Amino acid sequence: MRNPLAAGPGICEVCHTFIDPQYSRCYPCMHQHQWLDAVVPISYSEHGGQLHLALRGYKDGYSPAERGFATPRLAAILWYFLEAHERCVADAVGVDRFDVVTTVPSSTPERDEARGNLRWIVSTCEPINARFERVLRATGRVPEGRDLAIERYRSERLLTGETVLLIDDTWTTGGHAQSAAAALKAAGATTVALVVIGRHVKPWWVPGPGPETVGELLGLLPKPFDWTSCVREEPTS
Ligand SMILES: [Zn+2]
Ligand SMILES: [Zn+2]
Repeated sequence: MRNPLAAGPGICEVCHTFIDPQYSRCYPCMHQHQWLDAVVPISYSEHGGQLHLALRGYKDGYSPAERGFATPRLAAILWYFLEAHERCVADAVGVDRFDVVTTVPSSTPERDEARGNLRWIVSTCEPINARFERVLRATGRVPEGRDLAIERYRSERLLTGETVLLIDDTWTTGGHAQSAAAALKAAGATTVALVVIGRHVKPWWVPGPGPETVGELLGLLPKPFDWTSCVREEPTS
C-alpha cells in the first residue's frame, strides 16, 4: 500500500492520481461532471501489486479460498482507515457527520446480487456499520462499462437533506462512483463523499513530460504505509 499524495502539482485534485503538472485534473476527472463532493482514496493500487490483486480477488477470485483470503483483509483496511479518518472526510465536505453509509453497486443488477462482498465488508466495519444501508440499485438500463451514466443506479428511498458517505473498492476512471453520487443527489442527498480503498494506477504510465513512470514515482513515496495520514491532511512525520 502507498499513501496517495495530496492534491497539488502533478496530482489530480479530484482523484489523486499522477498527472501532467500543466493540468489540475486527470483526463476523466476533467471531462465528467463531478457529483462527488470529495474523493478520498485510502491507497494507490498499483496494477499487478498486492492491493490490486486483493481488490480483484475478493470478488472475482475463481475460488472461495481466494475470495475468502482477500475479503477480511480489505475489511480491516477500511475499518482501520475510517476509525482514524472519517472525521477528516467529514471536515473536507463541511459536515458534522454522515447520516447514511452506502456502497457503489456493481454495474448490473445480476452482478450486484451475486457479488455482495463489498456490502459484507462495510457491514463488518464498526465505525460505520450502524449507519450502513443498501440504498442504491443498478437499474440495468446502462451497459457495463466505466462511463458516468446518470441512469446507471437509482436510490431505493428519498434522502432529503441527508449526508452520505459512499464506499467503493476501486477507482479507475470514477465513472461508477460519480454515477452513484448522481443517483444519491437526485434522491435529495445534500452531500456525498467517497472513500475508496484503491486508486488504481498503471506503473508503466508516464504522466508528465517525462521521463518518470508512475512506478518510479510510487517508488519515491514513503514506506511503510502511514495509517496516521490521509489525503486530507499532512503526514505527521
Ligand atoms: Zn482524477
Ligand atoms: Zn485524515
